[in-house]
Amino acid sequence: MLTDSNAIADFIKKTKIQDVLNWGRKNSLWFMVNAMGCCGVELLATGMAHYDTDRFGIIPRNSPRHADVMIISGYVTKKYLPALKRIWDQMPAPKWVICFGDCAISGGPFYESYSTHQNVDDVFPVDVFVPGCPPRCEALIQGFVELQKKIEAKKDKGTDY
Ligand code: SF4
Repeated sequence: MLTDSNAIADFIKKTKIQDVLNWGRKNSLWFMVNAMGCCGVELLATGMAHYDTDRFGIIPRNSPRHADVMIISGYVTKKYLPALKRIWDQMPAPKWVICFGDCAISGGPFYESYSTHQNVDDVFPVDVFVPGCPPRCEALIQGFVELQKKIEAKKDKGTDY
């Protein structure tokens, strides 16, 4: 906590504008509610009152134009991939992707299925992978914490540095 004016002046001198922007960004990660597959149920539950992620600035949004984070939960069918790309294109930069669940990461139980797209990181710049089938809500919150750390360290793929 900065209390005296010299400390505040020193802090302002040493802090770059990018650090301030990233501090704001990491603390307001609004995510697109785009529940896919059975992992989508965990995604919805994470946004509910029990976990109260709003206190971390992690807030569910229903429009891609209001969202910073796209969570790819569950399997991505080849038929759905163009729609997912369209949602991504509608999100304003800077924006980030979390891959949630084994299906999203590598196909999971649908590996080598004729109808699903494996390795979505070929298509989207994924910053965080959350494994599990399905991963728990706590794991998704941990994924957000990892994303916050990356943004703070300027090692994320979503910001154009
Ligand atoms: S990872 Fe498991 S729980 Fe998630 S969508 Fe695939 S099969 Fe369903």
